[in-house]
Amino acid sequence: MGVGGNFWDLLKPYARNEGFDFLRNKRVAVDLSFWIVQHETAIKGNARNPHLRLTFFRTINLFSKLGAFPVFVVDGVPSPLKSRARIERFIRSSGIDLPSRLKAEDGVSVERNRSFTKCVRECVELLELLGMPVLEAKSEAEGLCAQLNDEGHVDACITADSDAFLFGAKCVVKCLRLNSKEPFECYNISDIEAGLGLKRKHLIAISLLVGNDHDLNGVPGIGVDTALRFVQMFSEDEVLNRLQEVGNGETLLFQGGIESVGCIPNSVENSIKTKSLHCSCCGHPGTKRGHLKVACNYCSVNSNENCIQKMVGFKCECSSCDSDRKSKEQKKHENWQIKVCQKIAMEQSFPNNEIIELYLSHNHGNLFENGPLLWENPNIETLVDFLCYHQQWDPSYIRQKMLPMLSTIFLREMASNPTRDALLYGQYEFNSIQRVKVRCGHPFYVVKWKKAAHDMGSAMHMIPTKQVDLQQGESDVVAESSDLLDEPDVPQILVIDECWFLLTDENIELVRAAFPRKVEAFLKEKEMKELKSRRKKSASSFVGTQRSESPKSSGIQLSITEFYRSTKLPDQAKQAGDSTENSEKQSEGISKARRKGSSPNLSKSVRRRLLFD
Ligand SMILES: [Zn+2]
Ligand SMILES: [Zn+2]
Ligand SMILES: [Zn+2]
Repeated sequence: MGVGGNFWDLLKPYARNEGFDFLRNKRVAVDLSFWIVQHETAIKGNARNPHLRLTFFRTINLFSKLGAFPVFVVDGVPSPLKSRARIERFIRSSGIDLPSRLKAEDGVSVERNRSFTKCVRECVELLELLGMPVLEAKSEAEGLCAQLNDEGHVDACITADSDAFLFGAKCVVKCLRLNSKEPFECYNISDIEAGLGLKRKHLIAISLLVGNDHDLNGVPGIGVDTALRFVQMFSEDEVLNRLQEVGNGETLLFQGGIESVGCIPNSVENSIKTKSLHCSCCGHPGTKRGHLKVACNYCSVNSNENCIQKMVGFKCECSSCDSDRKSKEQKKHENWQIKVCQKIAMEQSFPNNEIIELYLSHNHGNLFENGPLLWENPNIETLVDFLCYHQQWDPSYIRQKMLPMLSTIFLREMASNPTRDALLYGQYEFNSIQRVKVRCGHPFYVVKWKKAAHDMGSAMHMIPTKQVDLQQGESDVVAESSDLLDEPDVPQILVIDECWFLLTDENIELVRAAFPRKVEAFLKEKEMKELKSRRKKSASSFVGTQRSESPKSSGIQLSITEFYRSTKLPDQAKQAGDSTENSEKQSEGISKARRKGSSPNLSKSVRRRLLFD
């Protein structure tokens, strides 16, 4: 995608892998269509509506786990050339052996385009329900992403479309790997400039030569390496004009240009003609006969002999030979340049100025026609309906998966505007920090949320599980097959003396900002415990196994599906009646599993269906 050839390979040495906090509290533009194309390739056929699934999970992770503020950008009306090229390239790069009827015939492309557009529309609906800002580009999404980046509205773009740099992007996140210690693979234009001497217009020039989204072929016979070497000869200001000249066939004028670029003085030319005679025996200046009479200056330095037979691969270092070699190299380089110029000149109306203007444009979309960028609270009930309908997920499953996002929003609100008695989702109060948890080398606080008192009266109940098990089975398979899915962590529930607690993983800094006293208390308690255990240790000669940091809890940990009350009570109410049997099974499971720190030995379906509202 983007620039043709192996353009990303060229940039690969300048990749930076960044850690969890790279985008924390920063804005990032996301090229939505690229997400969709990317994961379609990865999980096609394994899951229902992979585009919605991935957009849902990934957005939650980007927002809560990585703490970023994503701005989503969708394509406007693409040039017909572009959409065709994009689909062609997608089919080519996906490696999927498509049935021949799918091979980019016009009709199929149109059909595919239509279903792609539908995917995008559904994702936009989902994102808006999640409260995310979505912008529509005039045409290319990566163009608007880059413009947002260039003008400082966002700190990075998430796209694997290398076009983004041509459009002015400063930092491009090409890969997002949520299960890695360094989730971001990114590229900075400043690194590319420092390493390859390439600026934006150089990159545009390369794309014109090797092909791009608007002209897949570029100049025949010119690959990325040739294009790189060619554009490196010019400064950013002149590179596009030079291409224009060469394209017009103005090679003579151009050759004049080469001389001013080249570093060989004119005198070299003359010295070629006056190259001195060399001895056939030792290879140094002089003659064999002459060296018999008078010792060769070069040979006699290292030996007593007049002239020593030259070795295989001998290279004379005299100034005449040296400049001879240089001028040969220069000649070779010039011939190469002429060949490249000829190839370029052969191309009809090269370069395409429309493409250049498109890349240099600063008008990729009406940036803020709907006011400034805003991240609003998710519209949970509509969201549940939406995902129930499209994914056939259970409402409890959806609410559970939403929790990390809700807790992040809650903590952010508390950090900026501390309010007493504020509740997470109107139901849970911040209780304490349970422990520090390290995932992928990154520390989090495990926060305990306590079900608020006024909600305590309600009973726990179970509902039948068949349908959800099927759906869950499906998603498990997918989750293993690809880490593109980025499914967020399952929040846990803790039951202590009939009190219910939710456990979520939260960013340490965010918790500190939102609940500084709780953090203080936690750190103090931790210190005390460590002191105690150290004393114990030194007091007794017995070296026992060190207890882990987690506090002694008489409770048990469960993985649950539903923990907040739905304002609607759809199927559950009906089904609550026949749930007794299940809850008996479940309590049996709990008593069996009453071991510290371990998850109860409940069947997955029971765990999944444990309801509480
Ligand atoms: Zn000699
Ligand atoms: Zn010699
Ligand atoms: Zn020589």
